[in-house]
Amino acid sequence: MSVSTITVLCGSCKQQLGESSQLPPRERMPCPNCGATTRIFKMEAHVKVTPRVKSKLKHKRPGFKKPIYEQVSGDDLYRKTGLWSKLFRVIDRQNNRYKEEFINSETGEVLRSVDEPLARHVNRGSARKIGGSDETIASRRSCWRRARQALCKHR
Ligand SMILES: [Zn+2]
Repeated sequence: MSVSTITVLCGSCKQQLGESSQLPPRERMPCPNCGATTRIFKMEAHVKVTPRVKSKLKHKRPGFKKPIYEQVSGDDLYRKTGLWSKLFRVIDRQNNRYKEEFINSETGEVLRSVDEPLARHVNRGSARKIGGSDETIASRRSCWRRARQALCKHR
């Protein structure tokens, strides 16, 4: 969103005049200050800039590897829509909660709302990882076996 305004200044003494920039030159009134009819048009573009703010909060406790409480709030790019949205995310390890909310900053519409036990959230991610690594180990093992069989001349 940008709005541009044109300010009319006197071409001689640079005084700002309350004249329309659309006014034909022959209809110009002499400058009240110096009498000149030359003009300078100063264009100003007012661009609406929305500051992107994101704040992170972490509570750490000695003896705990991960922060016991994490909070992220502010502007974030919601990948699904590609729009800047308001993000609010809480990882509460003490109370075992995971909350995440994406809100369309223009309409206030809730794009995503998650409130679930943290354990479930974490397990889902790590379960996939474990599955992947098991598979890798298994295929590596069979590979070694095959390699051994191929290389072993006594068999
Ligand atoms: Zn003037």
